[in-house]
Amino acid sequence: MANAPVDSIPARRVLTDPAGLARYQHDEAEWAPYGMPLAVVRPQGTDEVRDVVRHCVAHRIPLVPRGAGTGLSGGANAVDGAVILSFEDMNRIVDIDAAERLAVVQPGVVNDDLRAACAEHGLWYPPDPASSPWSTLGGNVATNAGGMCCVKYGVTRDYVLGLEVVNGLGEVVSLGRRTAKGVAGYDLAGLMVGSEGTLGVITEITVRLRPAPRPGRPLLEVLCVCL
Ligand SMILES: Cc1cc2nc3c(=O)[nH]c(=O)nc-3n(C[C@H](O)[C@H](O)[C@H](O)COP(=O)(O)OP(=O)(O)OC[C@H]3O[C@@H](n4cnc5c(N)ncnc54)[C@H](O)[C@@H]3O)c2cc1C
Repeated sequence: MANAPVDSIPARRVLTDPAGLARYQHDEAEWAPYGMPLAVVRPQGTDEVRDVVRHCVAHRIPLVPRGAGTGLSGGANAVDGAVILSFEDMNRIVDIDAAERLAVVQPGVVNDDLRAACAEHGLWYPPDPASSPWSTLGGNVATNAGGMCCVKYGVTRDYVLGLEVVNGLGEVVSLGRRTAKGVAGYDLAGLMVGSEGTLGVITEITVRLRPAPRPGRPLLEVLCVCL
């Protein structure tokens, strides 16, 4: 059926009732145009994302990736007849490698959840959009998010080492690297950062981490020591 989502995804993870779909019509940018999606699909892995992308390409159905929907620019807004690819069920922290100071996550991991998990290893993921209690790493990468720490520590782009992406042909591609140094070839992972879902669907993210900062000393205490 040309207009139905793919058969390989169980029906319980395909939402089609109008009341439920209404929740996925737009992000925090209600001012931007939005329409009524055909369906919301909640994949649980890269293979399912690939199947959905291939189906949408074959049947010329618009596809909109969506994290937590906290975006302020309408990037996750539905167009009429679109399939919304929601990453709420792809929220697993795959690996935290303390020795290499990196983390591998699925795109639906919430920013604060990653930061909390890193803290248990004495590590820190600095990009801190004010939406960090809700926004996802996939959305953060797709918008190149940054918060108060960005002036000193940089934005999301500065922490993305590698990405797994399903491209517009429905192919799964690995971009970037897992190593600290990576200087060869085009920076295709960097190209994906800030692309707002227009170049492909991000299915796995490798970010570098920093050592957790030492607790700060109160300013008054520092002044007393100096005086
Ligand atoms: C209260 C509040 C505070 C905010 N503060 C900040 C801030 O300090 N700094 C800042 O930069 N932003 C901020 N934002 C904006 C927003 O939180 C960020 O843009 C955030 O990165 C969006 O993440 P999300 O998971 O909600 O993504 P969504 O809003 O769901 O999607 C954002 C974009 O990413 C795309 N996308 C999502 N997942 C994927 C994926 N897996 N593959 C490909 N594309 C994908 C979507 O299609 C869309 O274009 C704030 C928003 C709110 C509501």
